[in-house]
Amino acid sequence: MFFPVAVAVSLVLGAAVAALDASKYPPPLAVPPPNAEWSARFLGSLPSTVPGDIVRCRDNADYALTYDDGPSKFTPSVLSRLAKSSLKATFFVVGSQVLQNPDILLNAYRAGHEIAIHTWSHPHLPSLTSEQIVAEIMWTATIIKEVIGVTPKFMRPPYGEIDDRVRSVLRAMNLEVVIWSIDTEDWTGSKTVAQTLRDNAVKGADGTIPLEHDLYDFEASQALQAIDALMEVAKGRSFKTVSQCTGRAAYDESLLSGAAPSPSTSRASSTSTTATSAIPSSTFSARMTPSTRASSTTLPVQFLPTSQPGSPAQGGGSNGAARVSGTFAAMSCAIAFVAFAALLL
Ligand SMILES: [Zn+2]
Repeated sequence: MFFPVAVAVSLVLGAAVAALDASKYPPPLAVPPPNAEWSARFLGSLPSTVPGDIVRCRDNADYALTYDDGPSKFTPSVLSRLAKSSLKATFFVVGSQVLQNPDILLNAYRAGHEIAIHTWSHPHLPSLTSEQIVAEIMWTATIIKEVIGVTPKFMRPPYGEIDDRVRSVLRAMNLEVVIWSIDTEDWTGSKTVAQTLRDNAVKGADGTIPLEHDLYDFEASQALQAIDALMEVAKGRSFKTVSQCTGRAAYDESLLSGAAPSPSTSRASSTSTTATSAIPSSTFSARMTPSTRASSTTLPVQFLPTSQPGSPAQGGGSNGAARVSGTFAAMSCAIAFVAFAALLL
């Protein structure tokens, strides 16, 4: 009798997660310390070749909405709007955000949206050691698994920053890297996401994977308007999750098959490691160079090459646009997390 009542309450009020034990997890907004067991498991023999990043859907008529940096208290408004049009999207979530908003993550998952990894503390991955990258991924995967019961296979590097070392680490962890085909620059507040996506949709179908965010109210508001616009102009397009539009698995439990490290050990060791700040003070836009950012749209398929010579002239205007949008995305994420950190501190 109790169970059906609980289910009914859940359906009315939404999913509820038992309070997460924050002491089990690393502090938010700090790169977790390396864990010897995890590092040994994944870094013992890195692959010599790595696959390219996913930047588009396989079918040009497909459209995969993606939202980064949540879950936040503004995510439910996006979920409601998506539900109104029966749309499914993919959310690249930050582990420390999940710690604060587990119910929202569970609601998104139960509503049929896809959940993917966006790291624990939103660092610049190329600036981290391989051991720190493993820790960023594993803690995020661990908390996602605790909340929704499955382990994502897709991940998006913060700021879109990635190089072949980072790719090889992620490949060793059997993860799939997803970038984006269009940066909506929703963080600027001056650009209208609805207009950007409307223009893109009118221009032609190209398997679009747009980058949007759901960390702040103004980003979520932009997302709502953008969905309204897409519903007007994207007739005939199929809105799918990343797994649906790439034909690849969204979840894979093999990542967490090993035992989790002792939280007390991890926390204790955090004071003696080289863990870096989640918000490096360096100018992140300078990092968005062709050598660290995948930057070609010349391939006939949706995957970017993994090793680009990095010539600014390579690939023509589209590449330039990708780098510029990447820079804007970097600024977006940095501004968002600096503000978020200020709220916490
Ligand atoms: Zn981000």
